[in-house]
Amino acid sequence: MKTIDLDFDRAHIWHPYTSITGPLPVYPVKGARGVHIELEDGRKLVDGMSSWWAAIHGYNHPELNRAAREQLESMSHVMFGGLTHQPAVTLARELLGITPEPLDRVFFCDSGSVAVEVALKMAIQYWDGHGNPRKKRMLTVRSGYHGDTFGAMSVCDPETGMHHLFRGILPEQYFAEAPQCGFSDICSEEHIADLRLKLERHADELAAVIIEPVVQGAGGMRFYSPHYLNRLRQLCDLYGVLLIFDEIATGFGRTGKLFALEHAGVVPDILCLGKALTGGYMTLAATLATADVAEKVCSGEAGAFMHGPTFMANPLACAVAVASLRLLLGSEWQDTVLRIERQLQEGLEPCRKFDGVADVRVLGAIGVVELKRPVDMGEIQKRFVEKGVWVRPFGRLVYLMPPFIIGTGDLELLTTAVCDIAGEYGPHF
Ligand SMILES: *Cc1c(COP(=O)(O)O)cnc(C)c1O
Repeated sequence: MKTIDLDFDRAHIWHPYTSITGPLPVYPVKGARGVHIELEDGRKLVDGMSSWWAAIHGYNHPELNRAAREQLESMSHVMFGGLTHQPAVTLARELLGITPEPLDRVFFCDSGSVAVEVALKMAIQYWDGHGNPRKKRMLTVRSGYHGDTFGAMSVCDPETGMHHLFRGILPEQYFAEAPQCGFSDICSEEHIADLRLKLERHADELAAVIIEPVVQGAGGMRFYSPHYLNRLRQLCDLYGVLLIFDEIATGFGRTGKLFALEHAGVVPDILCLGKALTGGYMTLAATLATADVAEKVCSGEAGAFMHGPTFMANPLACAVAVASLRLLLGSEWQDTVLRIERQLQEGLEPCRKFDGVADVRVLGAIGVVELKRPVDMGEIQKRFVEKGVWVRPFGRLVYLMPPFIIGTGDLELLTTAVCDIAGEYGPHF
């Protein structure tokens, strides 16, 4: 078999967030099965990332493979304008069945960032349909991450996001302080004061508040109180602003509930899903909206919702998503996530004593070791690979979110590797 041409890769292919002038090494992958990523040289790495929160059932799953193969035999894609198909109808029915009422309408799109763009556009068109075309801005909290396209970037954290780089053409949004009440806390008036202030002051221009419920992912791996979301919902209703939940990272069991919103029992007007939707097989996302939102969106000047990707509701992706959902819902996923949560707590606890560690936190199948100093990515990546695991930290955050199918032995390999390496990181280096 021909080996992967790394020189060509280095010379011609972009990787996420990397420079072409000082490229960090990339590891050639031959295949992946279960919880293992197999490198070309034969080394098998235990996957601690689920390929960015997505591969909840592990790789190369026979049921998902079968769904893809069967769908391929009938059609891999047809346009969604003027046509429909069973995989889309079945998936929409399943999604509405597992998300709370009154969410009622499903818009399928190609990636998480696009699902966020769709949500923002829906919110703006909603207010246009409502006779309030001035309400076009968004309010969000700091430390958020919602994707890399322009609308999505505009609601990412203004400091760690890319705001300064694109200042002048990036939509300017409002930011409230990041939620400060911990996961088990009740939020006091003080905790929501800034949020209330911004809503009060800008209600006449605000279309929506967008937030990642309970867990802020790529913006800092922060967990906060579900109670914050109850207060947020009340405030949005009080000031007449829509509420968008971005569950692209938290959806499908990762936090111990099927959706993080269940921790609070709060229903948003618009809900974004992605990442684990297809079990990590291919790119697909969905934006769900209430019937009220959908009706208002279509009653404005345009008379329709103005978005429609070429590969909208791709049948292959929808068929795999249906299979992935059935696999998840047909399993004892709550027990599984609870088991992973306990083992992450136990396994990462020893990291707390290291000088270089600022915090250790675990929620559901998410384990985070926050260092005092940012990691050297090239170096730390190499160390993890040497230990036989795939862990990709960012900034000061070393985190684990393994596939749900991981066994205790493999999870122990992951937590041990994280603690070993966190112990090597002093507060200064
Ligand atoms: C990953 C992510 C996105 C963007 O999804 P892509 O598929 O990478 O475009 C948006 N919001 C959240 C919370 C995410 O974690």
